Amino acid sequence: MVPDVRAVLKEEISRYVGQYCLDGGIESIWGEPLVGFADAHDPGFDMLKALVQDSHHLPGDILPGATIVVSYYLPFKESLARENIEGESPSDSWGRAYMETNLLSVGLGEHLASVVRSMGFPAESPKDVRRTEGTIVSRWSQRHIARMAGLGTFGMNNMLITDSGCCGRFYSIVTGLDVEPDPPVQGENCPFKNDGSCGACMRRCVSGALTPDGFDRHVCDGVGVGNSARFGGVSVCGKCIVGMPCSFRNPRRRV
Ligand code: SF4
Ligand code: SF4
Repeated sequence: MVPDVRAVLKEEISRYVGQYCLDGGIESIWGEPLVGFADAHDPGFDMLKALVQDSHHLPGDILPGATIVVSYYLPFKESLARENIEGESPSDSWGRAYMETNLLSVGLGEHLASVVRSMGFPAESPKDVRRTEGTIVSRWSQRHIARMAGLGTFGMNNMLITDSGCCGRFYSIVTGLDVEPDPPVQGENCPFKNDGSCGACMRRCVSGALTPDGFDRHVCDGVGVGNSARFGGVSVCGKCIVGMPCSFRNPRRRV
């Protein structure tokens, strides 16, 4: 019987996270993952070179002959998010969550790639995905890839709003899997983009980086960098993704 690859990968993510917490003696701060499949030949990857930066990777740069980029979303738990609602500075637990998720994600990506290889397909966990020297953008935009993988649409807070919300982190592996890619979500999950309603993230932003005209990456980055000394150099803020109608659900109106 052909395995349900999506179900296998979701189960493996949950299993890995559970073991990571057991080994580290920590309580889990992550919820149920989502998994989507992007076509490695989606023209959107070429467009990212223009949209994000010229040195943005293509799937084939990471795995020659790539067919499917597996994108996965690790939501934070609501209890963690609640602790970051008050105040202008990130809560200690929010900062620690980012540091912990960065650590978790390295081994998790390698593990998922090995799971895909054990199914008989090549797979690589992308390296060298951090921002390039002198820029504030990365060479592998996880959120744009998640968009191509059908996991959601961008909200006014510049996060991808999935069916489980936007309060979490996105990762991916590049594979030679023989599965159908998921279609990108049609329309918009963010109500502001549909009819101008909501706008809570723009009212909450601590820096003015979010306006109806768009997202000012440099202004937002300055806030994160300003907070990073408290959190081992990890840039954090996240006030616009906690306590929002889109934090843990998809607020899209079904019409
Ligand atoms: S808070 Fe409201 S306007 Fe902002 S991204 Fe979420 S749904 Fe859209
Ligand atoms: S992360 Fe902070 S500074 Fe950046 S857009 Fe959100 S609230 Fe504004």
